[in-house]
Amino acid sequence: MYEFEMPFLVDAHLDLSMNAMEWNRDLRLPISVLNRREMGMDDKPDRGRATVTFEELRKGHIGLVVATQIARYVAPESPLPGWYSPEQAWAQTQAQLAWYKAMEADGQMTMIKTKTDLDQHLMLWSSEEKIEDKPIGYLLSLEGADSLVDLSYLDVAYDYGLRAIGPAHYGPGRYANGTDSSGKLNEEGIQLLQKMERLGMILDATHLNDDAFWDAMSRYNGAIWASHNNCRKFVDHNRQFSDEMIKILVEKQAVIGVALDAWMMVPNWVRGKSDPKSSNCSMEIMANNIDHICQLAGNVSHVGVGSDLDGAFGREQCPYDLETIADIQKVFGLLAKRGYTAEDLERIASKNWLNFMRNVLPA
Ligand SMILES: [Zn+2]
Repeated sequence: MYEFEMPFLVDAHLDLSMNAMEWNRDLRLPISVLNRREMGMDDKPDRGRATVTFEELRKGHIGLVVATQIARYVAPESPLPGWYSPEQAWAQTQAQLAWYKAMEADGQMTMIKTKTDLDQHLMLWSSEEKIEDKPIGYLLSLEGADSLVDLSYLDVAYDYGLRAIGPAHYGPGRYANGTDSSGKLNEEGIQLLQKMERLGMILDATHLNDDAFWDAMSRYNGAIWASHNNCRKFVDHNRQFSDEMIKILVEKQAVIGVALDAWMMVPNWVRGKSDPKSSNCSMEIMANNIDHICQLAGNVSHVGVGSDLDGAFGREQCPYDLETIADIQKVFGLLAKRGYTAEDLERIASKNWLNFMRNVLPA
């Protein structure tokens, strides 16, 4: 099926524990069994159409992921789903952490907190050990910082292994406003960034609204990545990066993870109505986004994969030629046809993220 050996792949954005705790998915099941169990359910848009399980990750040689904790706080007038107090949001993230720990105890996952963890994990994945016995490594990231009740909670989170934070998600946030909103970082957001910088944490620029994005770029001196973001050139929406945003990220030595959510891939997508096939949403579009970032950067060093494939959507809202997350590997064949070398592809598949992590993680 593949013209070259499947590279080791890093996916820099999955909401695995959200799927376990809110979707009630046991990711140890085969994908067909997991989806069959959801037949007839309509409480979530992607019921019965999941693309992510541990088995599918292993099939796609995705041995390392950035996995989130995610819980939004919502004020009384907010139309968004979320928790009614920051303390409840915090408690939700702790349930998510408890699930990751239970998956570690079961041999399915292993947390990457340090350079040593990372090197040992990569050694295990390059060993002859059977792939079924290899745990999926995960670097813990917080998507939206609302659940940090105050900054003393960040110390607790850093101690249990949190290494990256995207201060914002959709709409207004307690530290920064996100997608579909405006406004620079507020006072709490500025202090959050200062503390993250002192702790040596990664700032995830994904979901910052344009004002907060540029504010953060001018303030943050620590490491910056964008875990799951596509290009505004192809879909003109504030969730996407303009060329100027991509250029400053390149200047800051960031890596940008290209995402597989159909509405970020083809223009005018209507959730629940549009369909991947008739919208021509294919893996070629992922290749277009990767290529555009490489063209702007002038090299292949600033792009990787951040699929978001379990971010509240499934096969109804991702490329039609992707059946499960294992099919991300198809993009490398497409890029090879466009002239990318095996070495380029290895950088995009894993090396860019791995080099970044090696530079940032504590020893
Ligand atoms: Zn997201």
